[in-house]
Amino acid sequence: MGHTLVIDSIEAAGRSFAGGSTLAIAPVLKKFMVHFRRPSSYQGEYGFDWLRDEYIYPIKTVTHNNSGSPLTGKTPFCMDVGALKTEYKTTDVVNPISPYGKDYYPAWLSIFPHTTTAQFAHGSRMHRFGVTLDLEIEEIETLSSDATKITFESGNRNLIVTPSEINLQTLLGSKQTKSLGGSLTRTYYHSSGKVNIKSKDAPLAAHTEIKVFAQLGSQKEEVGKLMVYKNDVIPKAEIVVVNVITGSTSASLRSDYQFLFKNQSFNQALIRAEVTTDTNFDLTALSSNSDVAAFLSGYSSMSAETIRSAIETLYLKYGTHKPSVGGIDDSTNKKTYLFYTDISAGTINGICSLDIPTMTWGNHYVIFNSGLSSKRTVIHECGHSFSLPHVFSASLSPFDFYQGYTDNYMDYTWQRGSPSPSGGYYSSGDNKYKGKMYSLFKWQWPIIRSDRSLILTY
Ligand SMILES: [Zn+2]
Repeated sequence: MGHTLVIDSIEAAGRSFAGGSTLAIAPVLKKFMVHFRRPSSYQGEYGFDWLRDEYIYPIKTVTHNNSGSPLTGKTPFCMDVGALKTEYKTTDVVNPISPYGKDYYPAWLSIFPHTTTAQFAHGSRMHRFGVTLDLEIEEIETLSSDATKITFESGNRNLIVTPSEINLQTLLGSKQTKSLGGSLTRTYYHSSGKVNIKSKDAPLAAHTEIKVFAQLGSQKEEVGKLMVYKNDVIPKAEIVVVNVITGSTSASLRSDYQFLFKNQSFNQALIRAEVTTDTNFDLTALSSNSDVAAFLSGYSSMSAETIRSAIETLYLKYGTHKPSVGGIDDSTNKKTYLFYTDISAGTINGICSLDIPTMTWGNHYVIFNSGLSSKRTVIHECGHSFSLPHVFSASLSPFDFYQGYTDNYMDYTWQRGSPSPSGGYYSSGDNKYKGKMYSLFKWQWPIIRSDRSLILTY
């Protein structure tokens, strides 16, 4: 029968040749990109971030801007689209790519290295089985079942990808088309639990890429990338949890806060966050002191900020586990204080100290009665104490989002509506991620990791 030709040029593929004999022509590698995605069951167990379509394309409705003015039509959730694209395309990215001339934004993963103490003193068993991710195949041209393979090439031998190759046809399940606003669409196939990533035996001393190639016969194209955050420096956060008792009953904080700190939040920034002290601060037993008595008789008419400031002052004077030198918010203090109380402060769940002239976040926060059972409040306020602003703070956040539209710990659980007479805002609806806001964005990881309260040598 015929010969087999390998033809590189697309134009030549499928051309029929005159002259009687039929030539079998090698199929041409189809154009597509590969993206790593988080499983839908994600609850903050590791760091994973990617540039969501909704942040940069007008896909969804935003009811009001952050000044409370109504918006019409569909709006990207981020106001700094160009800067956000640049951030995900290039910042810390090793060998940025643009397959077939398309913009490519690699997803980011952060996992602890699984090591023996001899290999690395600050390893962890947290991700010893690795992390299993979803894959998305984005069509650039219509795909069909052929012999195309996807292969993964890790940039470090201690960063393991399993399997090392996958047949493309096993990833072409049900095709989905998503509108990106206007006439733009994205067509893709999503497959759950396809690839496992593990960091073992030695930490990553640099941000490390996992390259993704499409291969068919001798044709090979780089079509995707996963970036893995360097994990050779694991800062430690020490948290002092203080139950502030102001009456005959005392508050109870949700019971899983140690797990939250360690396994569902700051672990995403590769921080070992540990509750080192769990203690009571019983103000009723100190009420013979005039300043304590004044607080106990007056807190019901105080603002959240005044209560926070009073607790800080009283704890520095009478607290058992106060810093040995200086104040709680001094840079010499390497502990973070979580004060919780059954005092109510209107609708405020929690508050973190912030030095207004310098806009420096402090090292302590208070959780009020309405926030005691909220996972998000425990972490959100602690996020402030670790230098994170709200994602909708135009003056403090590197990227400005509309309030109430993301699943980030530092967003709000409600969408900002029109201004209210009290000086705040009405809600225009719940954040659709309310109850499952477990994300910290990749650009937030280095902000937390640089917080002055963290311990680098231990
Ligand atoms: Zn806040």
